[in-house]
This record gives sequence, structure tokens and C-alpha cells, in this order.
Amino acid sequence: MFCPSCNNADTKVIDSRVIDEGKTVRRRRECPKCGYRFTTYERFAERPIIVIKRDNSAEPFDRKKLLRGLLTATAKRDVPPSKLEDLIDGIENDIRAENKTEIDSTALGDMVLARLRDVDDLAYIRFASVYRDFKSIEEFSEAIKKMG
Ligand SMILES: [Zn+2]
Repeated sequence: MFCPSCNNADTKVIDSRVIDEGKTVRRRRECPKCGYRFTTYERFAERPIIVIKRDNSAEPFDRKKLLRGLLTATAKRDVPPSKLEDLIDGIENDIRAENKTEIDSTALGDMVLARLRDVDDLAYIRFASVYRDFKSIEEFSEAIKKMG
């Protein structure tokens, strides 16, 4: 598997454990080139979750895309990527727990924001500004104020 940090073509598994009542294998990997550590999860292939966008087009829920967005939002904020993986897991589990296979992008964004707020305040603002596509500066200020 490629290193998400330096794109080195190989990474090694340094820890592997079975979680989620045997349904998931969690692996810690390390890049021998740059030393970057990250987590991967191996699961049964499930029915994909479909995200309905504002223009009513649909696309499969993309963990990697969401992770990229979260990594951008948490840049230089000292948030471990494993915490972001956990956040995405939580969202996926919540959606699946309700037996849903579709979610609209606004609801998904809200789920991300609700969790990101507990992770990092600035990351929350950064993500909100992109994801919610604030219509006015007032709306944006309102979101900042709500953070207390
Ligand atoms: Zn690397």
C-alpha cells in the first residue's frame, strides 16, 4: 500500500488486530522511507453508502475523499490521522446502524461537523467554511460565535 504522506510504493504493517467483534482487521502501517504511520481497516465489502448531493446527483461515500478533507482541515493542528479515521468510522457505523444506504450531503456534513467540533475548534471552522458553503459572512460569524 502507498504511503499517503510521501507516496512511497511500499509500507510495512507494524501492528495488526481484530476489532469490531471479528468483523474488522485494524492495521498500523509505517512507511520505511519517511516514517509516517497510518491505520488501515479491512472489512467485508458491504453495500456502498450513497451520498446524494445538493444538485440531486449521487456518488458513493468515499472515505478517502472525506479523509483528505479532514486532513486539510486539521493541517498543522496536531490531530493524529487515526483520530480522523475513528471519526469516519463513527459516521459510517451510525449510517449503517440505521440501515441506511443513502444520505444527503448536508446531513453527512452535519455529522462530520458535530464530531469535528469535539476534535479541534479551528479544524471545525475550516471544514465548516468549505463544506457548508456559507452564503454570507454573517452565517460564518454565527458559526464562530456558536463555538463559544
Ligand atoms: Zn512515506
